[in-house]
Amino acid sequence: MKFHKTLYLKFLLTYLIFGILGFILISALTSRMILRFLVQNEASRLYATCQLIAADYGVELGKALKERDDALRELTRTAGYSGCDIRIIDTNGRQILYSGDNEGSVTSSNISDFDAASSGTYYMTGDFYGVFDEPHLSVFYPITYRYTILGYVIAHAPMAEISDLSNRLLNITYITFLAIFILSLLILILFSHAVYNPLRKTIRAAEEYARGNMEYPLEIHRHDEMGYLSGTLNFMAQEIARSEDDQKKFISNISHDFRSPLTSIRGYLAAMIDGTIPPELHEKYLTIVLNETERLTKLTNGLLELNSFNEKGMILTITDFDINSVIKQTCETFEVQCNKKKIAFELILTGHELFVNADADKIKQVLYNLIDNAIKFSHSNSIIKIETTEKNDKAFISVKDSGIGIPKDSIKLVFDRFYKTDLSRGKDKKGTGLGLAITKEIIQAHNQNINVISTEGVGSEFIFTLKISDNE
Ligand code: ATP
Ligand code: MG
Repeated sequence: MKFHKTLYLKFLLTYLIFGILGFILISALTSRMILRFLVQNEASRLYATCQLIAADYGVELGKALKERDDALRELTRTAGYSGCDIRIIDTNGRQILYSGDNEGSVTSSNISDFDAASSGTYYMTGDFYGVFDEPHLSVFYPITYRYTILGYVIAHAPMAEISDLSNRLLNITYITFLAIFILSLLILILFSHAVYNPLRKTIRAAEEYARGNMEYPLEIHRHDEMGYLSGTLNFMAQEIARSEDDQKKFISNISHDFRSPLTSIRGYLAAMIDGTIPPELHEKYLTIVLNETERLTKLTNGLLELNSFNEKGMILTITDFDINSVIKQTCETFEVQCNKKKIAFELILTGHELFVNADADKIKQVLYNLIDNAIKFSHSNSIIKIETTEKNDKAFISVKDSGIGIPKDSIKLVFDRFYKTDLSRGKDKKGTGLGLAITKEIIQAHNQNINVISTEGVGSEFIFTLKISDNE
């Protein structure tokens, strides 16, 4: 539960930090940048004005001094036109003309400290050597005549106007940022809708699963990563629930399969001891008891075998061998059983030899299981067809009988452990229902497939594939 809140808080905090940092950035950096830009802009405008005036006054400076009033009038006009004050000084800083001079109040303030090279640029901001009370932008341009500097044209504009403009622009920036900040709230909402809420549901479900409640529904129908995650989790829960189910079924199956032979063994032995079965019949019932113990042994061995597969995966000893000859050998081991039931094999084998790449012993076991089933579930006087074919680098091996067949509903289940069809129970009391499960494990360990085609009352065909050997 804690986890949810932290993630959400983190996101919210990030959002707030984004807002605060953005604000600080604008007030610290953007405001300065705007002001600098405006000052430079204004300075270059005034510079052009100064330049023009300087060009005018260069030659005429002497004259201008004589006709001071005319010059002043003209200068004042230009200054008014450019929205600034204009001052002309000589190289000693002595003021020659100043547009700000009102008629009559002729101030001839000397700016003796003035040094055009000091600021390294063509303008400066501030009180201009104590001339102004308010900060001003002062732009200067030299008046030259025959490569000598005679003086300077200096234009002054109050900084207040520029700052005012700068503040107005800054406000626009603030408003824009605020809009972006509010808009980015959308991201927060989208995040909580797309990630946070489903994540919370998923965590809730995961907690339930951890507690063992595998039935807890987790439904997030979406085609994104969250949907995928929840789907996977859901699938996992179902699989666990199913395997728990399987486990229970497995145990009850084992118990059942052990109990029935044990019950009959005990029954027969008790009957022999208390004399219910007369001594002359002992041999017959002891044979039954022996058969039952055989079945128990087979069951135990089968279980051990299956278990060993699961633990370490199956260790295969892969070699190239001739499957045709393995089929022939296996068929021979069934001679006695076949004779009893008058069953014949029909072998339809591809080529003289068909080399496959697999674990020969394990494949022998597969064939044994399939042929054993085919004989067990065939009627007397029938034929079992075993066929090998070659297709796309694969050998297909089919074992086909015309016996009792498998009911439609059971076809999917015959490879399950302990599964036996109702049809077969009467025919084969010794069967453990493990044969096909082992067979399937073996084929799967080879990365191959096994399939069954069967019709109830008509017969069954089991087909499995093997890899054809490369160096043929
Ligand atoms: P085991 O192989 O241990 O002797 P089993 O033969 O009963 O026991 P599997 O080989 O796993 O067990 O077969 C499972 C069940 O599938 C059988 O009990 C039977 O019902 C059905 N089955 C298998 N092969 C055939 C077949 N050729 N024809 C009809 N039913 C079959
Ligand atoms: Mg079998």
